[in-house]
Amino acid sequence: MKYNIPFIKPSFPEEHEIAKDYSQIVDSNWFTNFGPYEQEFRARLEEYVGNDVKAVTFNNATIGLLAAIEGLIGRGNGKEYIAMPSFTFIAGAQAIIWAGYKPYFVDIDSKSLQMDVNNLENVIDEVKGVLFCNVFGIGNPDMEAIEEIATKNSKPLVVDSAAGFGSKYIDGTFLGNKGDCEVFSFHATKPFAIGEGGAILTKDIELAKRLKKITNFGFGDSRDAEELGFNGKLQEFNAAIGILQLKKLDAKIASRQDTYSQYASFLENLGFKAIDNAENSSLGFAPFVCPEAIGRNGLVRYLNINGIQAREYYNPPIHRQSYFVSNRNQWADSGLDNTENVCDNIFSLPIHDDMRMVDVESVLSEIGRYAKDNKRA
Ligand SMILES: *Cc1c(COP(=O)(O)O)cnc(C)c1O
Repeated sequence: MKYNIPFIKPSFPEEHEIAKDYSQIVDSNWFTNFGPYEQEFRARLEEYVGNDVKAVTFNNATIGLLAAIEGLIGRGNGKEYIAMPSFTFIAGAQAIIWAGYKPYFVDIDSKSLQMDVNNLENVIDEVKGVLFCNVFGIGNPDMEAIEEIATKNSKPLVVDSAAGFGSKYIDGTFLGNKGDCEVFSFHATKPFAIGEGGAILTKDIELAKRLKKITNFGFGDSRDAEELGFNGKLQEFNAAIGILQLKKLDAKIASRQDTYSQYASFLENLGFKAIDNAENSSLGFAPFVCPEAIGRNGLVRYLNINGIQAREYYNPPIHRQSYFVSNRNQWADSGLDNTENVCDNIFSLPIHDDMRMVDVESVLSEIGRYAKDNKRA
């Protein structure tokens, strides 16, 4: 189905903007392996986030998550657990299993939609580490408490900030400076998009060195595999796109935030709930919790029929996806009532880098119409 207003509409550099870089990469005969574009891109990422973070680039965030677990916790024997939410994208759980662990799904807080601090504390003795997630790329307001639990219990803390490059925490800093490291995706569907790509940002210089080694077959300064690695390297073409995209990121985020605030003020009047601190994020999604009296399923169906592509992210949650249903011995959970409940009511609206006013208005007027006709007392 073709939508008048698609859920996601990435904007990429025009042909003429990228032509020179393309020729330069081909002429220099240096396509990957930490070439000049990757070096420059890495420096620009560090500069953007500030706070003395070091960047390590990746070919995608899933490989980045795998490297982060390998670099901080080491390979597991298939029996031990890493805590994470079920209400997120599947990649983190798959990285945990490939790294030789099992996900321990911890229930979420029904306001932040992220692992509840008390629930995490209850299972902390049973896990080797924590994969926290800044869900929807929104800087979680409880991050300080989460860091405290991890530090107090000496557990590594990896933060999956995949969709959140350019988002800010409530302390005003950019995502990328919390936990032991934060993992970002630059996939085409994220607000900061380069095609396929990702990065890990960390304040730990030794960890950064180790992660870079892991992305490059475990090679140190020579072609000698000093440890177990794989190929996680970012191509020069993608790095070149990234350098151009970064220059435009602030303007795109400002425009997304403007669209989001129009959505939020209209929808909050109808009883929809916004996610805390979403307004300070880069808004790859525009998530809201639908009031039960209106009904999420009917609303999403209605919008889709009317050419507006809304989605139910992250429904179904990870533990209800087929692989996890059929492999019940691969994970544990601490009760997932809030997760289930949120999954029944969450949805996200289309949001673009430069969304036209008429499109924002048409999304809101359709929701207004549906709510009026279908609201149950
Ligand atoms: C997009 C996303 C990923 C995966 O990123 P890739 O670069 O596609 O591997 C992982 N976690 C979350 C929360 C995401 O949103």
